[in-house]
Amino acid sequence: MKTTIAIERTTQDVISVRSSLNKLLTNLGADSIFAGKKRILLKPNLLIPKPPDAGITTHPEVVAAMIDWLVEYGIVKEDIVVAESSSTFSSNVTRRAFNKCGIQEVCESRGVRWTPFEGTKMVRVDLPTGKMVKFLNISEELVRAEVVINLPILKTHNLTVITAAIKNMFGSLVLTNKTDMHARFPAYTDFAEMLVDVYSVSKPSLTIVDGITAMEGNGPGAGGKLVELGLLLAGTDPVAIDTICAEIMGFDQRLILSTQAAARRGLGTNNVAEIEIAGVSLDEIRRKFKFPGTYKLYRFIFNSRIGHTLAPLMKKFTGVRAWYDKKTCVSCGDCVNICPGHALKIQKVGSTPTWTKEKCINCHCCEEICPKGAAHVGIAGINGIWPYLIVFLTILVTIIWFITRLVTWS
Ligand code: SF4
Ligand code: SF4
Repeated sequence: MKTTIAIERTTQDVISVRSSLNKLLTNLGADSIFAGKKRILLKPNLLIPKPPDAGITTHPEVVAAMIDWLVEYGIVKEDIVVAESSSTFSSNVTRRAFNKCGIQEVCESRGVRWTPFEGTKMVRVDLPTGKMVKFLNISEELVRAEVVINLPILKTHNLTVITAAIKNMFGSLVLTNKTDMHARFPAYTDFAEMLVDVYSVSKPSLTIVDGITAMEGNGPGAGGKLVELGLLLAGTDPVAIDTICAEIMGFDQRLILSTQAAARRGLGTNNVAEIEIAGVSLDEIRRKFKFPGTYKLYRFIFNSRIGHTLAPLMKKFTGVRAWYDKKTCVSCGDCVNICPGHALKIQKVGSTPTWTKEKCINCHCCEEICPKGAAHVGIAGINGIWPYLIVFLTILVTIIWFITRLVTWS
């Protein structure tokens, strides 16, 4: 049987979002998800404190429409909670993000509870079948919830190519746990498997993707470029949702490692032929998103078996490069605090961070959370290959010269 992904067009207008969301949930037959269920947790994406028009956080109207639908369905508002953990260590960051992005106001005006995950009790959850992690400390709110509703915003991501259904649940880990995961699993493939481990614990029953204003290029933070996509997507299969998101964005499915890993583990399908679209057809909405970073080819090679084997060599040749724009950096120190490799330092008050190449693990966290879009991490082209290339060519020319001499001598 095919899995259904519902897609509807919308604007940011309250009425438009409500009408589209209602259609999505009707097309999915979402009523059955909530039959007999009480405690409902909504997990938006509040990466950093930014207003809704920055396109970095889930739009508050999507959260509002979902809450209103739940209350109309018959869920008691006291049983609904909106929870999230932002990605920097600055003081009260998630609370500020709730406030700045308008979701605090949405919750309070409806008498619904909201909370940063880091303000809740953490419980240990064992993951005997986890591929990269065997246990996780996660919020009791998440464990107690009978239905988790995943509310990502559709963006490109420098590390994972896209962030939608699967990547959004990584945000349910709190601060140090997130940096710890980056430090432990710096390789793309391992990080993707870890994301799936985290996802398998939180297990959202429903995902609504906010694709009203999406992001392309160097997402998912202030360095990305906004795309007025005007869509909402919904489904119960996270793998199928991420597959369709990648289709809409024009990205090769082979580059979305978390989708592949989740499909291998039977968490859903990444085969477009097995996915039925309800609502707007894919052909009407496909558009070419700018790839995150400038190293698509690098990723293709890296993701291949040979590339993985040659990873240390490739890293040496291509080299990571990070730079921090003096004009836009406000020396807030967020990147220094989050850096899992401890590669950054602010030498004196008001200066931009200095970067130590040897310590950098290419995780893109600094780039992701910089509030000013001043942090940049990339692959330094083929810098560093020239000495090796010159040695190789010299040896080659010498061999050819030697063979030619041998042939002419005889
Ligand atoms: S690069 Fe960004 S995060 Fe880092 S200190 Fe400057 S403004 Fe803050
Ligand atoms: S400098 Fe940036 S990319 Fe490098 S380890 Fe630190 S946070 Fe990650």
